[in-house]
Amino acid sequence: MRFDVITLFPELIEQYCSFSIMSRALKNNVIELNTVNPRDFTVDKHRHVDDTPYGGGVGMVLMCEPFFKAYESIEKMPDAQAIMLTPQGKKFDHGMSVELSKKSQLILLCGHYEGFDERIRQSLDVLEVSIGDFVLTGGELPSLCLIDSISRNIEGALGKIESADYDSFSNGLLEYPQYTRPVEYRGMRVPDILLSGHHGEIEKWRLKQQLLRTHQRRPDLFERFSKRADLTKLEKKVLDEVLGEI
Ligand code: SAM
Repeated sequence: MRFDVITLFPELIEQYCSFSIMSRALKNNVIELNTVNPRDFTVDKHRHVDDTPYGGGVGMVLMCEPFFKAYESIEKMPDAQAIMLTPQGKKFDHGMSVELSKKSQLILLCGHYEGFDERIRQSLDVLEVSIGDFVLTGGELPSLCLIDSISRNIEGALGKIESADYDSFSNGLLEYPQYTRPVEYRGMRVPDILLSGHHGEIEKWRLKQQLLRTHQRRPDLFERFSKRADLTKLEKKVLDEVLGEI
């Protein structure tokens, strides 16, 4: 997977990716990262990338030319997907993260100031993506959210110990509660079942906790899970138990 990030602040992207799991994934060539700065494609003395909006109004708008040129400078793989980060886009979630991780190349366009000249959105074949109903100052944090999350789905990015298989959303539910040493802390004890060594019972307890927690915090996900036709025998059994209790 190759990420090409079009950004006015390449250091923000590069710095984040130089730590922890992202840095290891880059070092092991599981992912590749390339940043392109539209400012390098300006022709005027002051290297302007933005200008005032036609029709008046506050703020500055990102100009077409530096962004088109930056985009055109990137060598595209046959299945390359361009993504424009914008609060007006489709909301990013686990499903989209898994789908996008199947691509060989993602080209991420980060906005700033008041955002992009509309003709950038119109002409480049972009998927518009938002990370939530709030507005940030730039597309760098949203891009990093995508890069980080998508990378977790790519084989080899996470070690076995950090496996994403049991994380929230991977089976449609929130994760069960986790504990580590010590067994007792300030009067709070780890549930006995987790110390029992009975793997089957632990698996059942965890699934039940997932269901209870998801029902309480995310009834929308619980509803979807309970209607699934592909539940395992254990999932069906524990779901029935939970439905009888709630
Ligand atoms: N004027 C724009 C609007 O109202 O839709 C917001 C522009 S915002 C201040 C500047 C840039 O930050 C956007 O072009 C986009 O790249 C990024 N951005 C801000 N919030 C975002 C979000 N929730 N999801 C994705 N990108 C976001």
